[in-house]
Amino acid sequence: MAEHLKLRDVSVHYGAFTAAHNVSLSLQAGEIGCLLGPSGCGKTTLLRAIGSFEPLSAGEISLQGSTISGVGNTLPPEQRQVGMVFQDFALFPHLDVGRNVDFGLSHMKRSQRAARVSDMLELVGLGQSGKAYPHELSGGQQQRVALARALAPKPRIVLLDEPFSGLDSELREQLAGEVRQLLQRNQMTALLVTHDQHEAFAMADQITLINGGTVVQSGTPDDLYHRPIDAFTAGFIGEGAVIAVQVNGDGTLDFGLGLLQAPVAAQYAGRSAGLLLRPTDIAYAAHSSVSLPVAARAFRGAQYLYQLQLPDGQLILCLAPVSTNVSVGGLLPVSCHLDAFSLFEPS
Ligand code: ADP
Ligand code: MG
Repeated sequence: MAEHLKLRDVSVHYGAFTAAHNVSLSLQAGEIGCLLGPSGCGKTTLLRAIGSFEPLSAGEISLQGSTISGVGNTLPPEQRQVGMVFQDFALFPHLDVGRNVDFGLSHMKRSQRAARVSDMLELVGLGQSGKAYPHELSGGQQQRVALARALAPKPRIVLLDEPFSGLDSELREQLAGEVRQLLQRNQMTALLVTHDQHEAFAMADQITLINGGTVVQSGTPDDLYHRPIDAFTAGFIGEGAVIAVQVNGDGTLDFGLGLLQAPVAAQYAGRSAGLLLRPTDIAYAAHSSVSLPVAARAFRGAQYLYQLQLPDGQLILCLAPVSTNVSVGGLLPVSCHLDAFSLFEPS
């Protein structure tokens, strides 16, 4: 299948500052991608480059097989056919919902425009709200209007920049899931930008993790969670701790919870490495011969997330039933069950 969106070695500079460096990614038609990464890593810069708002200093961006941006060559705005949705919704406060959605349809006939607006509002579940003003709607409803407005002109791709961060956290994941269904039903290709992994997981087929303007890892949510390529990805995606371990010459290792055989440790045999431990890798075990002191704990409803101290002082996480109820300073008996061994170069 041909690539719908393709970035090839894209770099963007602000003066002497490199905001994005050699970024490559591609999306198939109908796929939802995500640029994920900490604040300031260059996500918005890349999205603006795809929208032709930011010139490239190297590389090329193509949409449906033709170049939309290259060095010294950026498509004029009216030919981009890109829909944008922003964090602050950016609705026109003095226009009602219907006229907000109608805004980008000046190229259509009047009669067609009205039908398109009403179709779009139906699509986002706001069929009755065409005459309402943005301030009369909830944040989630306003974001749906923004989405309807972006989809109305039938763009070739929808770009969403932190579209849910103005909403409370309960609503965010739910709306991310709804927006995903909506985009899929319309066979839209979309690229989401967020710093929130839960939003990325709820919405994206493909995630590109960015740090300091460069791609760290690209893959499905499952790839990034279960097969992180380095300690940055392991620390950024999901909960857990990357601890320093010494791998023995025979590939075994022992960080205080008994001898473990690391199946992939050959390349690390006889030297130190970083080992990812998820909170579910460390289990409460009433009759274990090993107990670790509790350094901190957080109530999680049915469970406590314990922070435990290893004999060498390093801290790990353990998710255990609330019935364990060990206070800070007390000892929790535990055992280690590693499904996947994620070892990295020592930091
Ligand atoms: P993100 O969206 O991931 O938070 P941005 O793409 O907004 O990151 O910014 C990436 C880096 O580029 C930041 O260090 C930011 O300060 C810088 N930056 C963003 N826009 C400009 C600009 N117009 N001029 C100079 N520096 C900028
Ligand atoms: Mg941003």
